[in-house]
Amino acid sequence: MNKERLLAAVHGPRDFPPKIDNLVAFGGRSNVGKSSLLNSLLKLPVARISKTPGRTRAIYLFDSRAGWIAADLPGFGFAAGSRDDRASWKELVASLFEGKRPLLTIQLIDPRIPTSDFDLDFRDYLRDLALRSACIATKADRLNQSERSQAKARLEKEFGDVLFVSSRTGEGIEALRKRIQKELPNGETPKKRN
Ligand code: GDP
Repeated sequence: MNKERLLAAVHGPRDFPPKIDNLVAFGGRSNVGKSSLLNSLLKLPVARISKTPGRTRAIYLFDSRAGWIAADLPGFGFAAGSRDDRASWKELVASLFEGKRPLLTIQLIDPRIPTSDFDLDFRDYLRDLALRSACIATKADRLNQSERSQAKARLEKEFGDVLFVSSRTGEGIEALRKRIQKELPNGETPKKRN
């Protein structure tokens, strides 16, 4: 694996590399499909890095080689997550968002399961900080037509616009890349991908 694409593992504010521009953050609950999506978007085995057993919880920064840097936020746990877990997750994420504002935060949602309190908390947190965000519904290949329209209606109420993606079929990946490019200052031209 291309080690130089992993720019940093951030455990606290002091771990941020000094020159980080055009940050795009990716957050969602564990198992939402975040690593698979990042693998498709970045053409990089992200999961192998951030999910290596024994690694401590951190925000991993990856060079997209398309003019922006991906911040892979730790997945937040299911309802079982203790208050302390939530507090330390929030503290870590706050150290990123309050120190370095992302251009865009991609909030990943699994459209097959009800939106959790944590998802709504995260949405409200982004709104409170007036951060731009985009809601992405993952694993779209698993929904039939009627499930998709139901999920779309529900998620639009909760989050506004929603883009359906599938890392398995590639649906929505190019649209998401374009959505991210649109946020880059002065319509920055992406560096050549390889
Ligand atoms: P993370 O915990 O959010 O990083 O989630 P992962 O990317 O590891 O995915 C969790 C599970 O969902 C794995 O079993 C993946 O194979 C599966 N998965 C991820 N993306 C998709 C997708 O687009 N379609 C389908 N059908 N399964 C997916």
